[in-house]
Amino acid sequence: MIVCKFGGTSVADAGAIDRAAGIVKAKLDRDPVVVVSALSGVTNELLEVARRAAAGDLLLAVTNVETLRARHLAEAQALIGDSAEYDDMVAEISVGFDELAHLAEAFSTLGFVTPRSLDAVAAIGEVLSSQMVAAAFRHRGVPAEWVDARTVMITDDHFTRAAPNVNAIAAASREHIRPLVAQGKVPVLGGFIGSTTGNVTTTLGRGGSDYSAALFGAALEAEAIEIWTDVDGMLTADPRVVPMARLIDRIRFDEAAELASFGAKVLHPSTIAPAVQRGIPVFIFNSRRPEGTGTMIAFDAPRHPVRAIAGKRNTTLVKLRTTRMLLAHGFLRSVFEVFERHRTSVDVVATSEVSISVTLDDPARLDDIVADLSVYGDVSVERSRGIVAIVGAGLADGTATLAGALASLGAISVHMASLSATGINFTLVIDDAQVIPAMQRLHAGFFEANA
Ligand code: ASP
Ligand code: MG
Repeated sequence: MIVCKFGGTSVADAGAIDRAAGIVKAKLDRDPVVVVSALSGVTNELLEVARRAAAGDLLLAVTNVETLRARHLAEAQALIGDSAEYDDMVAEISVGFDELAHLAEAFSTLGFVTPRSLDAVAAIGEVLSSQMVAAAFRHRGVPAEWVDARTVMITDDHFTRAAPNVNAIAAASREHIRPLVAQGKVPVLGGFIGSTTGNVTTTLGRGGSDYSAALFGAALEAEAIEIWTDVDGMLTADPRVVPMARLIDRIRFDEAAELASFGAKVLHPSTIAPAVQRGIPVFIFNSRRPEGTGTMIAFDAPRHPVRAIAGKRNTTLVKLRTTRMLLAHGFLRSVFEVFERHRTSVDVVATSEVSISVTLDDPARLDDIVADLSVYGDVSVERSRGIVAIVGAGLADGTATLAGALASLGAISVHMASLSATGINFTLVIDDAQVIPAMQRLHAGFFEANA
């Protein structure tokens, strides 16, 4: 069994859903279970209806409901207009948006929305997309069967960010999904949505469909999870910065997690942890180019010295020099308490016996932080700094990679360096203006030498 998840752009319209059907059809021998997002942009628009209505703008909210209704009806017409199921689908769409219009009226009367009602509103997107995809797949010869994800994705009642109940999901998967697969059917479920044990609709939080796919995959002990999206996979660098960036064929889970902290937007590894930790590999594929080889994320992919180069601009470097740290204990704690007090998270840290350097993404409270740190020693602030990171599980096996990184940078000055405790991330703080050239040089040094 495999889980195939199609994100919003991969079910954006009739053409995309048609491609998804082709992809699934070619995999029927692997017993696919399909998980889908709402049509792209729909979740934002649904939540906007609720927000507008609660803010008293009922007319605009209702106009948005009708736009959404028209979009779903048009896609249904294009997908299954000539099928016997079309009328049923139209009825489902009408029920969904009539209900939304009533909810909007209620929100505008009340003047507020609760997290519980936001989940009821947002869920309409995945409920309808999954029904539409199931019908469209059947019409294209895939033996699809819609399963209401809320009967399987059992969660707590932390609305808008509900936590899954893994045991209940495993039991419900055995009851509602496995038997269909055993009969040769292709279950189709909405991602992102769930329900409490009392049958109240919940959601897993924005972008939660990947998480749904991983949770269903783990519950079903799937062989693999495929995340079908609009990029070819994870790349060795951001291609807007490094045009020579290339596809990563396999990456370790911990490497992918490091890259996510630098804003790699393909998918957030924490969302796939439930599957990867059970040894289920997760693949990222491009639904516009299904012939691509994608990226495989696995717990124990081979160790490479360097898997990717990442960068981040606009960071602030704060340095504290003091002789009081010499042989003192509790000093670091006092210093970090300053950042805690000002609710500022620190990113990269380096310390020596007489100094501490930290980088901050958010300098909003910098003046107060500097004032409080001055109690402990001389503080200097370097604005306009940036970060480049070299990520690879085998980075610190020997010194060649670290030496190679510094050599590639040439004359670019390094203001601070930090090797992560796990030895998979070597981070260098440089001038902000040098981030792009540094990424290009590092990429050339590690990936383009024998290209
Ligand atoms: N449709 C939901 C969202 O936009 C969930 C997802 O697509 O992952 O947040
Ligand atoms: Mg997503």
